[in-house]
Amino acid sequence: MPFKKLQEISGVINSVNDGARAVRNVTSTANNVQRTGQDAQRTVSNFKNKREDKKAKKAAAGMWVCDCGEQNSTKFCGACGSAPPVPVVCPKCKWKRPADKSSMKFCGECGTKFEED
Ligand SMILES: [Zn+2]
Ligand SMILES: [Zn+2]
Repeated sequence: MPFKKLQEISGVINSVNDGARAVRNVTSTANNVQRTGQDAQRTVSNFKNKREDKKAKKAAAGMWVCDCGEQNSTKFCGACGSAPPVPVVCPKCKWKRPADKSSMKFCGECGTKFEED
């Protein structure tokens, strides 16, 4: 084989290698783009979670939550003027049912049924 022909062939091999390298670069760029997309998605869902945390209302110590959703430490609701829910007292042992446990139908201390109007 003449020397010139060999040179030509090695040139072709080099450009094939360059092509393969370019393809690898493109692939890794595509991976990076995908990763960035996933990061962005994760950031968005973190942000959503934080917002939901803020929305969740739970009465702090000494506070009561009105039917309208307002949290109050005063005698009457500051948002709608309602009185706080009256605590139900057990007719037998006088245990006070907490205002936020209105689903309880029986006394937590002695099991007596609450008399509700
Ligand atoms: Zn209210
Ligand atoms: Zn009781």
